Amino acid sequence: MPNKRKVAILGATGAVGQRYIQLLQGHPWFEISVLAASEKSAGKKYKDAATWLMETELPKEIAEMPVANIDVKSCEQAGDFDLVFTSLPGDLAGPTENEFGALYPVFSKASAHRMDKDVPLIIPEINPDHIELIKVQQKQRGWKGFITTDPNCSTIGLAITLAPLMQFGIKQVMVTTMQALSGAGYPGVASLDIIDNVVPFISGEEDKMETEAQKILGKFDGKAIKHADFQASASCNRVNVKDGHLESVFVKLDKEPSIDEVEAAFTKFKGEPQKLKLPSAPAQPIIVRHEKNRPQPRYDRDAGRGQSVVVGRLRKDPIMTLKYMCLSHNTVRGAAGGGILSAELYVAKGLA
Ligand code: NAP
Repeated sequence: MPNKRKVAILGATGAVGQRYIQLLQGHPWFEISVLAASEKSAGKKYKDAATWLMETELPKEIAEMPVANIDVKSCEQAGDFDLVFTSLPGDLAGPTENEFGALYPVFSKASAHRMDKDVPLIIPEINPDHIELIKVQQKQRGWKGFITTDPNCSTIGLAITLAPLMQFGIKQVMVTTMQALSGAGYPGVASLDIIDNVVPFISGEEDKMETEAQKILGKFDGKAIKHADFQASASCNRVNVKDGHLESVFVKLDKEPSIDEVEAAFTKFKGEPQKLKLPSAPAQPIIVRHEKNRPQPRYDRDAGRGQSVVVGRLRKDPIMTLKYMCLSHNTVRGAAGGGILSAELYVAKGLA
């Protein structure tokens, strides 16, 4: 077991920051030492700064911790830390992550640096080799630390299901999302906008879903990532569900595998986290369900402690090759759980 790393969480009071706090309780490799958020929260005790949204109790020692500002000096004054989890709004994350990345390993949930050429975009089961890109980044930027990113919360479910389909040659992907409210953070979408309603627009989301999976499924040649060569089209919707993004996926393949072959590819799909037995790795990254009406957010989002993607309604498509539904927990696998799993991979590989 590696020595315990002390971690700082930037954006600790938000929907994702709270999930980090919850999931890091009793973690064998990481302990929380610094919590940081906006000026409105800084200087307060965490319990007075955050509206605790998790289903479990706010841990007593976290409740009493002071909240720091999100700059390096304030965080270093608040406590020692070895690595940083960030869950900040995208525009703010860019410069803040650069400031921390120069000195510390930064595990980012924001979009600001995801598509930078020298920044890895990681799903540990799919592209663990891409983490070596931080060596290129450190050399180019002259940094002691680094920035590594996780995909958008709706890309994660999609990309995990596309990875085992790569062997059949992916040509085109079309996806329509039904995304949970917690995906918009806290307080997020106004109640009067979403009660009795579906909002057929999420700012910036479709661009991310149409580009990120190609980077994740691309090949790293030791210097740069060559993106996978398929087209993707996304249509994103906000629905009145607390947690769990449901996606309707259509895929056109070069080959014509049978449904049994596709199901076997999904079920067999495993990667480095399972091989290395990382603490947050689900035993089964993809769970296939056979009921006609699953997956559903309320019943399936916590599968594999929220780290598994649940697939259902797998069938042939008369226009594309295949269609299916997939569901992933947006603040666990899609955010804090994914970030922690990435950090475990870096630690296991001696890079953090
Ligand atoms: P959120 O609930 O709105 O939380 C935002 C956090 O950032 C809070 O801690 C907030 O602190 C802090 N913050 C806001 N403005 C700040 C400022 N000017 N200076 C310093 N700190 C500031 O948002 P979230 O849902 O946790 O999302 C955080 C990031 O993760 C975003 O980039 C989002 O796109 C990404 N993400 C979210 C999800 C999801 O499911 N929610 C999934 C994947 C990725 P205060 O409380 O003090 O304002």
